[in-house]
Amino acid sequence: MEKQDWLRLLPAVDQLLSESSLQELLENYPRWLVLKGVREILQEYRESILAAETEDRLEELDLSTDNIAREAVQYIKELNSFNLRPVINAAGTVIHTNLGRAPLAPSAEEALLGVSSCYSNLEFSLERGERDSRQSHVEKLLCELTGAEAALVVNNNAAAVFLVLNTLAGGGEVIISRGELVEIGGSFRMPEVMSSSGAKMVEVGATNKCYLSDYENAVTDQTKVLLKVHTSNYRIMGFTEEVSRRELVTLGKQAGLPVVEDLGSGVLVDLDKYGVEKEPRVQDCLEEGVSVVTFSGDKLLGGPQAGIILGSAGMIDRFKNNQIARALRVDKFTVAALEATLRIYWDEERAVREIPVLAMLTRKLEDLKKQAQKLQRLIKQKSSGGKLEIIEGKSTAGGGALPMADLPTYVVTYLPDGESSQVLARKLRLGDPPVIARVHQDRLYFDVRTVRAGEEKIIAEALGRALE
Ligand SMILES: *Cc1c(COP(=O)(O)O)cnc(C)c1O
Repeated sequence: MEKQDWLRLLPAVDQLLSESSLQELLENYPRWLVLKGVREILQEYRESILAAETEDRLEELDLSTDNIAREAVQYIKELNSFNLRPVINAAGTVIHTNLGRAPLAPSAEEALLGVSSCYSNLEFSLERGERDSRQSHVEKLLCELTGAEAALVVNNNAAAVFLVLNTLAGGGEVIISRGELVEIGGSFRMPEVMSSSGAKMVEVGATNKCYLSDYENAVTDQTKVLLKVHTSNYRIMGFTEEVSRRELVTLGKQAGLPVVEDLGSGVLVDLDKYGVEKEPRVQDCLEEGVSVVTFSGDKLLGGPQAGIILGSAGMIDRFKNNQIARALRVDKFTVAALEATLRIYWDEERAVREIPVLAMLTRKLEDLKKQAQKLQRLIKQKSSGGKLEIIEGKSTAGGGALPMADLPTYVVTYLPDGESSQVLARKLRLGDPPVIARVHQDRLYFDVRTVRAGEEKIIAEALGRALE
């Protein structure tokens, strides 16, 4: 048969539309969308026919109306489904920037939903009946929790650093150690943020060693800020020397310069109390005399995306009065979710229990093991063939936090029979809901640390479908 004859075998658009499955879709979906889907699937088949090099390839194509209608239905449903959706994180990275960083605590989710489809007192004092600041909902809470005098919340920590440097050092110089020129996920690099804020970066010391004298020698009458950046996603090991926060604060006092610290993650609880690597707490930085601290809302704090700036009332007022602040301001969803998240911190034990990021980081090994066993059991029921095992593994904190944390975990691994695990991982990602697993040594790795209760069954069923 000629290619033309094969093309003639394809069903017509009208013929497909009269199939009951597509008729059903037409009741709920706009006609143009259904037509678009049908036409695109037909076009794909035409292209496959024209591209087929052998008769065998052509024979493999199922050109029945039935089959093409089924594919069209699936494709149209995909076209109509949301791009941004919940996924199951079985990769074990707790603060996964690509997967939306911190999942919110239930009370934060509730607060966010609560203000989303109605009016709220976002910038209105119910007491005085007049305009108020949106910051008022979180500022006092932040001060009470951290001991700061004043606070300002902006879009994210990059915005916070930008605003602080632009306000304090625009046109002036900022001194920073060469060991602290952080890059976060490619788009936030200290030197670039610095130059866009209008501040001139003065690097001191070497990558591995920096002394107080390096800072002292770099101070000129152009210096506006001494900047300390937490190396949140890397560590410099070996032959090293770093100037402590206290020493820098002392120098700042002598030279009449503010010390600004970009803490990156910003944690409020003592993580080492719960068996996780020590991170400087926000409270500690302020207590040691740092003038301004900035950190993210959606890293270790476990709240919504936000940048939090803490400092003296005088400092914070200067940031608030910078015209740029308006462009960096937070929306009501962020304010609602952040307020609710912060309120959980009134009770530290509740915070460690209810804030997903903290709960996941501090999970007990026995608990992880039990969950891995449950997942293994469920997968066994849904899969035939392949090699299923539980192994000891390591989770990562991710999101520019705790780069050296030792987070032992249990991982369910699956070595498929015949099929490649890359292909399986892709099928899992494209499923509904998408499941994100790791692939290592041609096995699928499901790290249960980030798998929420009840998701084990969904993962097992998704794998079962991917294996069909
Ligand atoms: C993560 C991080 C940032 C950027 O914070 P965002 O909230 O993602 O904008 C800046 N500095 C440090 C040290 C960080 O770890």
